[in-house]
Amino acid sequence: MPPAAAPPAGPKPLSAPARALARLGLVRDIDLALHLPLRYEDQTRLAPIASLHDGVAGQVQGTVLECRVETRARRQLLVRIADDSGELMLRLLHFYPSTQKTLAPGTLVRVRGELRAGFLGREMVHPEFRAVTPDTPLPTGLTPVYPSTAQLPQAYLRKVIASALPRAQLDELLPEGSVPAGLPSLREAVTFLHNPPPGTDLGALEGHRHPAWQRLKFDELLAQQLAQAQARAERARLRAPPLRARPGGLVERLLAGLPQLLGGSLTGAQQRVVAEIAADLARPTPMHRLLQGDVGSGKTVVAALAAAAAIDAGWQCALMAPTEILAEQHFRKLVQWLQPQGIVIAWLTGSRKGRERREMLAAVADGRAGLVVGTHAVIQRDVAFARLGLAVVDEQHRFGVAQRLALREKLANRDEADEGDDGAQGLEPHLLMMSATPIPRTLAMSHYADLDLSTIDELPPGRTPIVTKVFEDGRRAQVLARIRDEVAQGKQVYWVCPLVEESEHVDLQNATATHAELSAVLPNTMVGLLHGRMAAAEKAAVMKLFTDGTMQLLVATTVIEVGVDVPNASLMVIEHAERFGLAQLHQLRGRVGRGAVASVCVLLYTAPLSPTGKARLKAMAETTDGFEIARRDLEIRGPGEFMGARQSGDALLRFADLAEDEPLLLHARSTAARLLADHPQRAQRQVDRWLGAKTEFLKA
Ligand code: ADP
Ligand code: MG
Repeated sequence: MPPAAAPPAGPKPLSAPARALARLGLVRDIDLALHLPLRYEDQTRLAPIASLHDGVAGQVQGTVLECRVETRARRQLLVRIADDSGELMLRLLHFYPSTQKTLAPGTLVRVRGELRAGFLGREMVHPEFRAVTPDTPLPTGLTPVYPSTAQLPQAYLRKVIASALPRAQLDELLPEGSVPAGLPSLREAVTFLHNPPPGTDLGALEGHRHPAWQRLKFDELLAQQLAQAQARAERARLRAPPLRARPGGLVERLLAGLPQLLGGSLTGAQQRVVAEIAADLARPTPMHRLLQGDVGSGKTVVAALAAAAAIDAGWQCALMAPTEILAEQHFRKLVQWLQPQGIVIAWLTGSRKGRERREMLAAVADGRAGLVVGTHAVIQRDVAFARLGLAVVDEQHRFGVAQRLALREKLANRDEADEGDDGAQGLEPHLLMMSATPIPRTLAMSHYADLDLSTIDELPPGRTPIVTKVFEDGRRAQVLARIRDEVAQGKQVYWVCPLVEESEHVDLQNATATHAELSAVLPNTMVGLLHGRMAAAEKAAVMKLFTDGTMQLLVATTVIEVGVDVPNASLMVIEHAERFGLAQLHQLRGRVGRGAVASVCVLLYTAPLSPTGKARLKAMAETTDGFEIARRDLEIRGPGEFMGARQSGDALLRFADLAEDEPLLLHARSTAARLLADHPQRAQRQVDRWLGAKTEFLKA
């Protein structure tokens, strides 16, 4: 074992509370000043002990009569105190030997907590307390309660914030007239929110409607808009290979073949987004475009045309999908579309090993493979491209700002030092992200403001709308009859079982049991089972049987959630639909209704439903429009959850609420544009003030 290293010279190690502060991102004075209270407590008054009622919180002051350790049940410290009006027992479950000294009989204590009419009479369990003298003053304002962690006591946080406040740089950065009317200056707003005077309307404060809060939210949104505008400007300075389709080249040949391959030509919406993408690709700066289109709107062919443009221009394209099933499906489709044109397509997944994989990698590295299809992980990990010109990320809705940054870093043509003269050095690939989860307007304008957006707002013709039915689980027999009907007509059916991570094992048993049950009651039907624990080859074999129509009923967990495309499937049954999120239900439902046949989605639920569960199923029954679903989802869940914890861009928006603050957001957006143009330095200071080190995220 090596000898213990001497402590490194340099800055003193941080104390525990200072480390806890740093973990919350509270490093500079301004960080502390912008760390605002969650709520307030009124500690300006003392109540007589006798005036408190059961379940009511209050502050009292009394003399300790008795202080003893009780050991009979759980070890605890019991402290009896009294004032002129009556007595009260304090019960402390965690205490130190020193606590007993602090609370010795005769001590005057100030106590805050909730009164309970307990076993031993009137008591407070774990109150806040401190020894005082008769002339210890009471606070004159409301006492702020800050977001904090266990390592960071409120009293300490209050102290450091109070001392940072006068030092913090809160000078006005905005030119006259650009702050929304009626809002205070930033310094006034911040000072007020940390120390609201007694008598302030706590409802308006805690509901963030007070003008002081509006000012803070406005500034926060402004910083976010500025940072994203800067990220855009920075991206405009990077170089990418211009990718233009050649006359008579791959793009034209693919377009000409589409009526045969798709059974139709591109929809108007598809033509429009294809043109938007082509214009971006032709520029010498990297495209960062998000293509959104509802499930089934036909994004894959748009991606194929973008890939064809890259290949036409002599560059490679990588197409990434979140699951192996989806990657394989893309691979099959693209082979069918592009291989006849002489394009070599490599397929890389985690389960491909050995010689085959080495050959694929070699074809990618020497540039023979024009297109590489695989899962995200695989393509990011160990694939070296000869000339990567375009990366397409399918179903990107699960990826946030941080993931985008990581992806771009991984794919940049930077670190292949051995290549020299082929021109790829220093060039960034273009990036096309595709998502079937439409982003509500306010989110698109805030968290995705650094991206360009293309929207397919039209489904290919000839689709019959999906009918959605919500049934209580007791009506299974009816559902089975329906399945028999569909199968008899030569159509196919999905049966989806929920998979909740905490109980994956149990759910797998459920899926297996459901598979057995359905196989038994549908004797002349081929019933398959698909779940995430199966080996990739096994999954692929099952999927193939279902895709080519041999298998009529597929029992699956949510592994089929994204992208799977079997147009002959006309019925989807989702068991325990109440356990799924709204976006997920919409994705699942999108697996049917992909051909001309009329499709039905049956949502089975088990009563009782929670209010949000009910709201989700109601939304599903009422609309199939992805944008409307997304809007309702945002309403039901709020943006943090909407985007998933990982991708909320962390604390990019701490105070503003996109569901409520659209007017502020619009104002911030126009102000950002003017500030950047007229006062770039002030704009920079505004960004630094709010985001500090977090701006790295936005360069993704
Ligand atoms: P998604 O946008 O959900 O990824 P897909 O790309 O999987 O949708 O397309 C859904 C289905 O619609 C596929 O079977 C595809 O071949 C078909 N399709 C796409 N575009 C057209 C079109 N313009 N005309 C007819 N069918 C189309
Ligand atoms: Mg798709």
